[in-house]
Amino acid sequence: MDRAVKCKECDAEFVITEEEQESFKKNNIPERQSCVKCITASLFKGMPEETKKKLEEAQRKKEMYPKLTKKELAALPDNELYDACILRTEKYDPVIYGDKAYKNAPVPCQNIIAILMLDAQVLNGGFTQFYYNGYGGYAKEFDIDFAKAFENLGLKETAKIIKDADKFYQPFLHNLSANDNGSVEGYTKFLELCPENDFDDKYAELYNKNNLYVRRYIKKHIDVF
Ligand SMILES: [Zn+2]
Repeated sequence: MDRAVKCKECDAEFVITEEEQESFKKNNIPERQSCVKCITASLFKGMPEETKKKLEEAQRKKEMYPKLTKKELAALPDNELYDACILRTEKYDPVIYGDKAYKNAPVPCQNIIAILMLDAQVLNGGFTQFYYNGYGGYAKEFDIDFAKAFENLGLKETAKIIKDADKFYQPFLHNLSANDNGSVEGYTKFLELCPENDFDDKYAELYNKNNLYVRRYIKKHIDVF
């Protein structure tokens, strides 16, 4: 159930939604005690005026995008449409909002979420990071077929890289334990264990093409975003 809370800084009442409560619980972080206004104000302290403006604009859009009607969404310029649709799929993210949120999402949204997850991990720390951060486990837990998501968009080359990488990494995954808990030491150990490979480079090389397809796909299925 959504719950009303008094901000510990400005005394204003704000709502912590049920989803947000679940997310706090799932990620083992204490519930926030301040309203968005106060949190933002504390982040902005001492920041250059220009950075502040940019962040404010980003925040304004973040709040606005999910509320747009389909007609308003379709009228956005291309780059904004992409950002808006990605933001509008966040509510289906199984890592944050759980199994049900993802399973009940329209298939095009599921595909985009899976692709964004891979991009966020692999383009950042490679497939090693992807597996170290538990996405191999999420694939099973939430029944996410990462390769299939790319195939569904016609991105067969990347789908193949994902499948090959999975075969490559599977023998090492039993070395990952809950004890690692995201520590640098655990990550370094895992990194040393996995032989060098070129999956990350191959994946990154295809990013520009993939991103173009993703944008086109979103546009084609805009009615479910
Ligand atoms: Zn406040």
